[in-house]
This record gives sequence, C-alpha cells and structure tokens, in this order.
Amino acid sequence: MKIVVLMAEEAETTGRHELLDHHPDEYEAVLGPALAELGQPTYRARQISGWVHERFAAGFDEMTDLPADLRTLLAKRYSISPLEMAFQARSRDGTVKHLWRLRDGEQVESVLIPSRDRVTLCLSSQAGCALACRFCATGDFGFRRQLSAAEIVAQFRDAELVARHVFGRGIANVVYMGMGEPMANLDAVLASLSILHGGFGLGARRITVSTVGLVPGIRALAARPEPFRLAVSLHAPEHTLRETLVPVEKRYPLPDLFAALREYQEAKGRRITFEYIMIDRVNDSHELAHSLADLLQDLDGFVNLIPYNPIPGRDWRPSPPERIEGFVQVLESRGVEAAVRRPRGLDIAAACGQLRLEREGMEVEDTGDADEAP
Ligand code: SF4
Repeated sequence: MKIVVLMAEEAETTGRHELLDHHPDEYEAVLGPALAELGQPTYRARQISGWVHERFAAGFDEMTDLPADLRTLLAKRYSISPLEMAFQARSRDGTVKHLWRLRDGEQVESVLIPSRDRVTLCLSSQAGCALACRFCATGDFGFRRQLSAAEIVAQFRDAELVARHVFGRGIANVVYMGMGEPMANLDAVLASLSILHGGFGLGARRITVSTVGLVPGIRALAARPEPFRLAVSLHAPEHTLRETLVPVEKRYPLPDLFAALREYQEAKGRRITFEYIMIDRVNDSHELAHSLADLLQDLDGFVNLIPYNPIPGRDWRPSPPERIEGFVQVLESRGVEAAVRRPRGLDIAAACGQLRLEREGMEVEDTGDADEAP
C-alpha cells in the first residue's frame, strides 16, 4: 500500500518513480512491473539494489550487467536522483560543507566532519524549520517543506563520494543534526534510517537522530527494533529559560520530555547525548549546571557543551572558557560526564542554516577559502 502511494506521488512530480525512497527489500515489488514486462527474472531487483546501494550508480546506464532493453525501460520509469551541488565550502579545519539544490529549487545543507580516525556526516531532514530556536540560523527562514526519504538518503550517497575523494575514506557516522527537526518529518526520517542501515550497511549505533525534544518521535525511535542513537538539544534545564531558547518546550515541557527519554533508555539501553550550547550569561551559571545535573540524575546521559556560534542578528556571545570550565566542574562534581566540543568549520559558517543564509545574500561574509562547486 505504501509503495503504491509513493508511486502515485512521484508520478505526479516527475513521471518517474524514485528508487532512493526504498529499502532494498522493497525493490522486488517496486521494480516488478518493469521486470515482468520484459520477462526478466526477479533477481534483477537485487542486482539493481546492489548498484544503487553498494556501487553508488548514478544512473541505469552504469548497470552494465543488465540487458540493454531493461536499462532503457528502467530509465523511462524510474530515477536515482543525485542532488545538485549548489556550493561547496572547505574549512581550514577540514570540515566540508555542501549546499544542495533540490528539484524544486529548495536548498539544504550537509556537513562532512573529519576527525583523526573517522568521518561524520551531519545531514538535513527538512528544508527550513518551523521550530524557531533562538540560537539557530535555520529557524530564521522558517519552514519550507519536508524532505523525502530519497532526498535524505541522497545527501548520504552524494557526500559519501565526496568523503572518499577528499578524505580517502567513507562516512563512518551519520547524525541527523543539519537543517530541520527530524522528529517533525518522522515518516521520511524513519524510512531513511532503514535505508541507510539496511541498504548502505551503516550500523545503527553509527546513526544518531538529534531532536529538540519532540516526544512522539522519541517514542517512535524507542519502538524501532534497531538501536539508533538519540541526541537531545537541551540548552536549558529549566522550563522558563528553555521556552525562550527552544520554543517547543511549551508543547513538550521538560517533565514530559524526560519521561519519554526514560522510556527510550529502558527500551534501548543506550546512553543519551545532550547538546547544550553555552551562551555567555544566558544559560551558563553554576545554578543551571546543578539543575542540569538534577535532571540527569536517573538517566545514563552524556553532555556535550558547545560554545555558541554567533549568528547574524543576535547579540549573544559564546561563554568564555572560564565559565565553561566552571560549568563542567559542577557537572563532574555531581557525577555527570561532559565534554566541551570545539566548534568546527567556523570559517565556512558551519552552524545550522548559516551557509544557506549567506548564499541567499541575507548576510554575506567573505570566508576567504570557500570554493564554488565544479
Ligand atoms: S535548532 Fe533544529 S529544531 Fe531548532 S530551529 Fe534550528 S533546525 Fe529547527
């Protein structure tokens, strides 16, 4: 039933059915009509899935072990759409950021973040975002539209090829932490998780879904059989302050959020990461560090403290090192593990939504080392 609905939607926009929307297990049903029409065996579906998920084929003409008439028919009926690279920026610290143009002209970002032994991809789940977190550039241009599973998966496929070329190794970890709130696009995000895991072979422990705290989405992730990781953008441990920084706190206040997190942890047995942006004299006091420790008391949690990355139009500053150190000391004295994360790609505007803001000319800075895509 789901496949029929997807086919109908796809046909309305391109006349062709997008294969990247599908898990390999669905290929036989999706490709069945074309295979039957040419009297081809069903194992061809597995062959085609192999080309899409293991060999990263960009089109059917690359599938040289398929008969020519089948390749021609597939190209008429189906697509494997790569994203159009609108812009690529490379940071001095190695971070590579992409702005991708979608079929309807909307643009989304993904970021490749290399470390000593692995490459992490941060990808987007929506064009824009409706949740309007105060510290976030994406929130400034509001919600444009949901991404399809295929558009999420295509960010991975296309970035994987860049990672192999630039870093000499593929992507080890994926985090849903780019533009958009993944739990607000739940169907497509859950479908894309299945495809990344079951199609591209990424271990569930290597995939993290980051949310500002949408309770139904957390419960849906807890109900999945695979142990995908969960990160929560917390940013404040008290209701009044949090609703000014993260307005969705009004809909899902901290007690409801933490009830869902406890359910997730009971179901999955996995540690939860908490992201906490450190804004000077806004959310970085010792008192708030104690409140945060109180909140995390009965959870296995880890806190990432991230100095605020200034965005245009806000007069906030990142917390200075001594305030961050004081915050860490309180957490550690209370038995909460925490680490200070170095912001990456500052010279290429790597905070959520900033590259798009800059490229759309709303606030343009010369970063000095950004390259136009070929
Ligand atoms: S931080 Fe995430 S949820 Fe909040 S506005 Fe930005 S993209 Fe949306």
